[in-house]
Amino acid sequence: MKLSELKNGETAVIVRLSGHGGFRKRIMEMGFIRGEKVKSVLDSPMHDPVKYNVMGYDVSLRRNEASMIEVLPEEEAKKELTPINSFGCMSACEGCTGSLGCNCIHRPSSTRRDKIIEVALVGNPNSGKTSLFNALSGSSEHVGNYSGVTVDAKTGTFSYKGYRINITDLPGTYSISAYSPEERYVRRHLFEKQPDVIINAVVASNLERNLYLTTELIDMNLRTVVALNMFDELEASGAKLDYEHLGGMMGIPMIPTVAKLAKGLDKLLDTVIELFEGENKTIRHIHINYGNVLEDELAPLSAKLHVSDDLPQQFPVRYWALKLMEQDKEALHLLDRCKDVESWKKLALKASKSVHNRLGLDVETAISDAKYGFINGALQETFKVGSKDTLQKTRRIDRLVANKWLGFPLFLSLMWLMFTAVFNLGAYPQDWIDAAFGMLGDFVTSIMPEGALQNLIVNGIIGGVGSVAVFLPQILILYLFISLMEDSGYMARAAFIMDRIMHKMGLHGKSFIPMLMGFGCNVPAIMATRTIESRSSRIITILITPFMSCSARLPVFILFAATFFPEYAPTVLISLYILGVLVAAFTARILRKTKFKTDETPFVMELPPYRMPTLKATLRHMWEKCEQYLRKIGTIILASTIIIWFLSYYPRPEMAESVGQTTTELCDNDYENSYIGIIGKALSPVMEPLGLNWRATIGIITSIPAKELVVSTMGVLYSSESEEGLQEAIIASGDFTPASATSFLVFILLFFPCIATVAAIADETGNRKWALFAVLYNTAVAWIAGYFVYTIGSLIL
Ligand code: GDP
Ligand code: MG
Repeated sequence: MKLSELKNGETAVIVRLSGHGGFRKRIMEMGFIRGEKVKSVLDSPMHDPVKYNVMGYDVSLRRNEASMIEVLPEEEAKKELTPINSFGCMSACEGCTGSLGCNCIHRPSSTRRDKIIEVALVGNPNSGKTSLFNALSGSSEHVGNYSGVTVDAKTGTFSYKGYRINITDLPGTYSISAYSPEERYVRRHLFEKQPDVIINAVVASNLERNLYLTTELIDMNLRTVVALNMFDELEASGAKLDYEHLGGMMGIPMIPTVAKLAKGLDKLLDTVIELFEGENKTIRHIHINYGNVLEDELAPLSAKLHVSDDLPQQFPVRYWALKLMEQDKEALHLLDRCKDVESWKKLALKASKSVHNRLGLDVETAISDAKYGFINGALQETFKVGSKDTLQKTRRIDRLVANKWLGFPLFLSLMWLMFTAVFNLGAYPQDWIDAAFGMLGDFVTSIMPEGALQNLIVNGIIGGVGSVAVFLPQILILYLFISLMEDSGYMARAAFIMDRIMHKMGLHGKSFIPMLMGFGCNVPAIMATRTIESRSSRIITILITPFMSCSARLPVFILFAATFFPEYAPTVLISLYILGVLVAAFTARILRKTKFKTDETPFVMELPPYRMPTLKATLRHMWEKCEQYLRKIGTIILASTIIIWFLSYYPRPEMAESVGQTTTELCDNDYENSYIGIIGKALSPVMEPLGLNWRATIGIITSIPAKELVVSTMGVLYSSESEEGLQEAIIASGDFTPASATSFLVFILLFFPCIATVAAIADETGNRKWALFAVLYNTAVAWIAGYFVYTIGSLIL
């Protein structure tokens, strides 16, 4: 029977996993392993995905993914499953003298004289790594935000007992193989940066799955300390854990912590120092026993690697032998430089075939079975399950939040609340900031002599930066909500509810939130895609977000809709928003069909237990976003406003005099004779098929730094056409017909939103090529759509 056929509330036992290697592996890391009980807990409102409970975790799976997992009722499963490995056998490596003073730690303790310790934080998503990071580097002198190639790692520095500790918060992973960008990133970090000590954050109340990653660190033989985080939850459940004994068995010191309340951190840091100085009594390198068959096949390969003189020293021989047998592409790549690599590969292939023949399992499955066997064995001796059901509260909330009838309305109400707060509450501080920039501009005007410099500062810098800075309150409020939703665990539920619809676009439920945020401002929306683990989904979401019409486009829409379609203005507005969404959906499908054919990470999403967010974490999160945004204003936006100012201000007097104007008569922005006017006129043949002349083209060009600038540009461009107002002036100019006004609106909607968004795309994808693609693609789409609208519109209107 397939897991997807399991009815709500039924329990069964997993007997087989099918599907490709990456899928199987990921599923296994999430706890879906042979012999494990799994319960179908909850259908999502649209029957897909489904929430399952396995190893005490709630996990959501799509139906077609659940159909790759074969299950049997418990009674039948007992007959079917014969253990391939007895529980918990392990052995120390040769020559090990036991726990005291073991000499089999391959990595020599640091030879550096300076007392700087490089620490890396690894662990499952939601294990509290970031909380630990923040609590540890709280008094940090420097917290930097470095965008990696694909994912983010954050570094902080602090001092402790005479040591400088550089700590890196790595992305959350369930294992360290090469299947997802995060895993690759973590492994590469460990391989290349070679941190002195690893802090492995582990959820104390859910050891079985969390320790899987730890067993990989054991294989890699890195100096590791386990932070048994959320120890408060373990205690609350009434469970008992003999962590010293467990640590002794695994050869890794374990320290209980409560990162949220900054408890246990001193002990943790003391252990980090002990490990660094080679003074820790618990650490020793153990070999997890992978069972007779695997060990048989592993031995000759290990022996061969042992005698090699060019094997990378970052990881032990046994690790490389295992990776060779698993045919881990990334690991093999790291071995490319070794001269004997071809013969190793051959031997490894033979060995894994032999394992397959003898066990009827592939090597990866056999290894992961053995790892879980090892963990189980170790836990059996040290862990007593608590009597209290700590997940009861979560289950109760979920019954409401993911309910068939209530789920959607609740979600939509929350979204509505968020947007109302963003726009209504945000409007007050926005006005203040606007007024402050206005006053600053007036002040500078009053103290500076008239001229280019004054104009640059007042209109270029203060005006330009001000128009973007006013969005700061909105962004802060948005992040208050997002941070609360993320930390509490609701975000995963929102994605769960929306997954079915998003799946039709080839995306993940998690893509919904950034898209929704895009209606506010594309920049934070693109930043919010960080919660999407799958790289391809993340890039697709980033690329379609600009089609979500941001609030800066609204003033343009309102102006033109009110001018040309006064009776149908709301319909025009809504149609534009819908058009944006349709183009986004279309783009997502195209990208999914061409560039990103397969989603490399399957939809397995953890639904973490609900947890109370802390004020400190929330404020910190908001401040980080605020800082990021301010930095963007100070760099890219400042630079681009200066460029646009320059292009619209120069060339000056000679030209003015030649048409018989004096400089004072010349309005502040003589767009027509400025460079931007020249560019507009040069480009207008391109825009002519859309019914747009040079003035409209200038409007489009000035929208590049920020869409808000279109309306103010129009104000200046058309000021001479009519005394009445902008609407009348635009009509009087005869520049637009209803058809060309519509094509202008469509163009503004689909054209790339602004420099800040393009910068965000480059930042978040880690690749400028995507930013360039977005600019070209969006412009092309805008042009084509505008052309169609104009051609058809001219026939009808
Ligand atoms: P990360 O994904 O590993 O970076 O995990 P986070 O640091 O974001 O933490 C995930 C959630 O667990 C947040 O809601 C934290 O407030 C919460 N949390 C972190 N540490 C603890 C802890 O020690 N005890 C409890 N009860 N909750 C914690
Ligand atoms: Mg984190």
